[in-house]
Amino acid sequence: MKALRINGPEQIAVDEAAAEPRIEHGGDAIVEVSRTAICGADLFPYHGLTPGFEAGTIPGHEWVGVVREVGPDVLGVAVGQRVVNTSMISDGTCEHCRAGRPMQCESRALFGYSGVYERLEGGQAQLVRAPLADRSLWPIPDGVDDDDAVFVADMLPTGLSAVRRAGVGIGDTVVILGCGTVGLMATMVAVPIARRVIAVDGIEARRDAAAALGAEPVTPEEAAEAVAAATGGLGADAVIEAAGAKPALDAAFSLVRGRGTICVVGAHFEPDYPLEAGRMFEAELTLRFAMGDPLNDRETLLGMIADERLRPSQLISHRLPLERGPEAYDLFDRREATKVVLTNGVS
Ligand SMILES: [Zn+2]
Repeated sequence: MKALRINGPEQIAVDEAAAEPRIEHGGDAIVEVSRTAICGADLFPYHGLTPGFEAGTIPGHEWVGVVREVGPDVLGVAVGQRVVNTSMISDGTCEHCRAGRPMQCESRALFGYSGVYERLEGGQAQLVRAPLADRSLWPIPDGVDDDDAVFVADMLPTGLSAVRRAGVGIGDTVVILGCGTVGLMATMVAVPIARRVIAVDGIEARRDAAAALGAEPVTPEEAAEAVAAATGGLGADAVIEAAGAKPALDAAFSLVRGRGTICVVGAHFEPDYPLEAGRMFEAELTLRFAMGDPLNDRETLLGMIADERLRPSQLISHRLPLERGPEAYDLFDRREATKVVLTNGVS
């Protein structure tokens, strides 16, 4: 089968003769991938910035496809069903899982992030093995197409998680720092609740995408003035830092109001960050971090897509066949693409 492999920093290649995955455990399923998206998180191993990443891993933790084979213990999905994955696998048995926190599972692993977690090949391939398929896969309702469903693997639950953990309330003024896919997903979820959503990004195409979702787009240089004008100088009720960068986190602290909440949803790998504890105390600030929780939120989100309350596929800027994956990574890395989906010629 064909698969992409990250062989080293900026070395991504199409393996035309990758071994097809097989059922290894009774709970496994094999899925023929129809759509797989490139995530901002894929750019960390792509640039060699993910500690311990195993060269040769097939990336991809956002995919949809059709179940081709199931192990004897799989009850929740059947051969022939269209399914979407959860970005992370979880065992369902550890204390975190039992308490409903699968993203903190003691044996969690992200598809296509080998070395950080146990080796687990991702879905940027024609076929992928899904361990613990009763948890890691979910059937896609008939009214939801693959282009929308692929966002339920990771991006859309992450946007929802950011909005929830930022404590966004009805009528709030919300700042979203970074209008990559996660920032835009958070925008999509926050706009119907908030009074105002101010979306901040240095790239015009991303600001345009945020504006199309109903946010007020501003450049990083304009953000302070826009927030002050919107809040009578008070600051934003909630700030979502979706850039995963220190300057964005600095900006979050400068834009939030007293007793406001900052939720960091952009991926951070830097070992430390200087917290201004005195200012946080004086202003009674809350700082939270969030990952998406596709396992707990996928049914709700697929339902909202089916009911046409959400249409994440509007953010797809490029569709390329799997074999043009290296070019797709390059486009995405140069920020010329908002969201790239790789297609596999099925469905
Ligand atoms: Zn667990």
